[in-house]
Amino acid sequence: VLMIGDEPYPPYLRPPLSKELWRRKDDRVKAMLSPLGDMRRNSWLFVEPDSFFIEPRRLHLADTGGVSLWKGRRVIALDIADKRVTLDSGDRIEYGKCLLATGGRPRTLPVFDAAAAQSPEVAARTAYFRNIDDFQSLRNKANQAKSVIVIGGGFLGCELAVSLTEVAKKTGLEVHQVFKESGTLAHVLPPHLSEHTSKFIAQSGVAQYPGERVTSVDWDSAAGQVKVGLSSGRSLSADLCLVAVGIEANTQLAESAGLEIDPGDGGFLVNAELEARADLYAAGDACSYYDVLLGRRRVEHVNHAEESGAVAGRNMASEPADPDRKRSTYQHQSSFWCNLANTLAWDAVGLVDSRLETQSFFAMPPPASDDGAAGSDTAEDYQYPGVVFYLKAGRVVGILLWNLTDEIFQDKKAFAPSRLNLARKVLAERQLADPAALQALAREFDVY
Ligand code: NAD
Repeated sequence: VLMIGDEPYPPYLRPPLSKELWRRKDDRVKAMLSPLGDMRRNSWLFVEPDSFFIEPRRLHLADTGGVSLWKGRRVIALDIADKRVTLDSGDRIEYGKCLLATGGRPRTLPVFDAAAAQSPEVAARTAYFRNIDDFQSLRNKANQAKSVIVIGGGFLGCELAVSLTEVAKKTGLEVHQVFKESGTLAHVLPPHLSEHTSKFIAQSGVAQYPGERVTSVDWDSAAGQVKVGLSSGRSLSADLCLVAVGIEANTQLAESAGLEIDPGDGGFLVNAELEARADLYAAGDACSYYDVLLGRRRVEHVNHAEESGAVAGRNMASEPADPDRKRSTYQHQSSFWCNLANTLAWDAVGLVDSRLETQSFFAMPPPASDDGAAGSDTAEDYQYPGVVFYLKAGRVVGILLWNLTDEIFQDKKAFAPSRLNLARKVLAERQLADPAALQALAREFDVY
């Protein structure tokens, strides 16, 4: 197996970059980010130590096969008919099977692009965030800055705004967060939980500007700061701007290869076996796949990346001449999570989209009695455990487990299936969404 990637690092997990790494001491962070030495001992960030990979030019000599990694290389063209990729170095490599796992890149905002093109000062003070280099750069700049504006109220905007308050504790950094919705994570959470999340982020020390879009960006040379105009007419100035307004799938190779792109969500179009064309597969953020249970989707979370990669890999490795060959269908309902604090942590499975109808069930203090002192949407403060069902055409299509971590569940009931697996089972059974059934289901999740 030959892996080609344009990053200078061996494969690593991205989730800690916006969360845990901000809570570690400098020397730990340095050790964790080093792919050298005993990586397994120093870091859980990297998927494999450097020594796992065979030197590419020796790969054909490895009797039992193996994996080689070409880092810092870009594939610029893909020829499906000749089964060949072309690298930026001009090298061409033939393949038997090829997997496109090209991920995504941060979306930019035209108003920032235009200002950065005019002003090198704005360009130097505008940050996007995706990889290890972005983490190191933001950390260095945030340590030097007095103020930062985070633009975006999604996963990254919220996690980084809270993480930047760790820097604020040491340096007094002012953290501002601008987002167009009325609450944070509003694209995912129902309004009451979005409001609760906003309240928590504000209490962590982040000044929030909901319902605002960025209308202008200028360099204020007198103040030596970036001046950001907002749709309400107000303006904010800061030393640093972090733009976190979503990602676009990296599908640039589609053009040379003549591949079909999902016209709605972007991403290489693949079937339920993750196949785009004969001997060509796509997985992770970059693919729009056919989910046989929930319909066509593109998912941007790490569990999906891992599980879809595993299915694509299995299908690619199965022997084509084998008459019993059965390709695996990607049926795993991937989960994702957000952990802003011990009392603000959730996991979710399925279609978790706030545009859908939802029903929420929360345990309320004092502890709910058997006849259920719990109900929907009455908690003033959602620090208590809860479950939210997302409904479509009378069925449960998504489940969010609020402050209900699997670890707690496992401790309480030995051998109990994890709540996430229970959620997957509920989706697979196409549970009907009538209120009594949902109330009973909430009990099964041990909300009370
Ligand atoms: P996101 O899709 O979660 O949120 C994008 C945010 O940008 C939304 O608030 C949206 O309204 C806003 N936005 C979009 N266009 C805008 C515009 N023109 N002006 C102002 N605001 C605009 O994406 P993200 O927060 O940037 O995260 C990047 C990627 O990283 C995503 O794929 C995300 O799923 C992933 N991520 C996931 C986690 C997690 O699962 N816990 C954590 C961090 C990042």
